[in-house]
Amino acid sequence: MTTIYTAEYFDGQTSAPQPATAQVLPNDGILIRWAGGQVLWPLDAISRLAGPKTARMRLICEEAPAARLAINDPADAARIVADAPRLARAGATRRGKTQALKWIAGGVVGLALLGLGAFEGLPRLAAHTPMSWVAPIGDNMRTHIEYAFDATPCASRRTEAALHRLTRRLLADVRPTASFDPSAVDVRIAESYIPNALAAPGGRLVILSGLLDLAGDTADAGGDMLAGVLAHEIAHARLRHPTRALGRALGLDLLLRASGGGVSADGGALLATFAYGRAAEREADALAQEMLTAAGIGDAGLKAFFAKIEATFGKSEAGFLSTHPATAERTAALPGVKGPERAFTKAEWRALLADCSPED
Ligand SMILES: [Zn+2]
Repeated sequence: MTTIYTAEYFDGQTSAPQPATAQVLPNDGILIRWAGGQVLWPLDAISRLAGPKTARMRLICEEAPAARLAINDPADAARIVADAPRLARAGATRRGKTQALKWIAGGVVGLALLGLGAFEGLPRLAAHTPMSWVAPIGDNMRTHIEYAFDATPCASRRTEAALHRLTRRLLADVRPTASFDPSAVDVRIAESYIPNALAAPGGRLVILSGLLDLAGDTADAGGDMLAGVLAHEIAHARLRHPTRALGRALGLDLLLRASGGGVSADGGALLATFAYGRAAEREADALAQEMLTAAGIGDAGLKAFFAKIEATFGKSEAGFLSTHPATAERTAALPGVKGPERAFTKAEWRALLADCSPED
């Protein structure tokens, strides 16, 4: 008889983690039981996630790449490692990462297709909803997205300050309208090995720090690459793409009800609302280019970022490409002009890399 531990199980479909128990069966795996059922994760398919700097143990299984098992008590985590020594080392296997990326890409493509069938008038109406109305939904979605990506907000003051400064710079010439308030744009970095960035409704943006790793080894051009991505996400927010997509995915009725309370979209539907299609991506690139030029940064970083994404992931729809479909002419459309000013000071960029990279 082995010990039964208290755990939290996130099935990847419903947004909230479920109270669960976990039991290590030495020759089989980890048996997870929760109110809705039970599942056995084979030991050799389980990896321990690298993640935030807390003692919480989080496990994933190659057979259910969207699911997560969290053991919150460090003493219990230590006992589990004693029973299953291969879980001592943090860090998802390469195979596990690829599986997770595939799941994310698949969910997005499948649900985006469902979304296409919805009434076209809703997204248009949703696009005129004041930003402040959808901000609570955006906050909620951003939190759920971070959970789905196993990402934790990077709590570094100097990083926040650097991002804030750049965001204000990019929005300096943008005037408020009935549906867009530049001062309400809120950006944060969340620690994750996945390279992606997402704009939730209400100007709630999140950059997953896998992007920092991707840009980090490109010396001083890395900061300008990140600025390019940030400008691209801000452009999505200005164009109200997240709110339109949410309206398309959920319907305006749910949208309005959700603004009074919580929204309980499942993980897949949530991700689907972040895939906008090729025309929207072109539109966002053009607007990003305009903001980067006005800020004196230029679009060379954005162009370099797309080249890097393509060189790293090829044609697969992983990470950034899962939510920002590539356009063949994308890189070609950007002249790649370097502006007179850098996006970050050297100290700011060093701080970003030092404070917000996911643990190995
Ligand atoms: Zn995009």
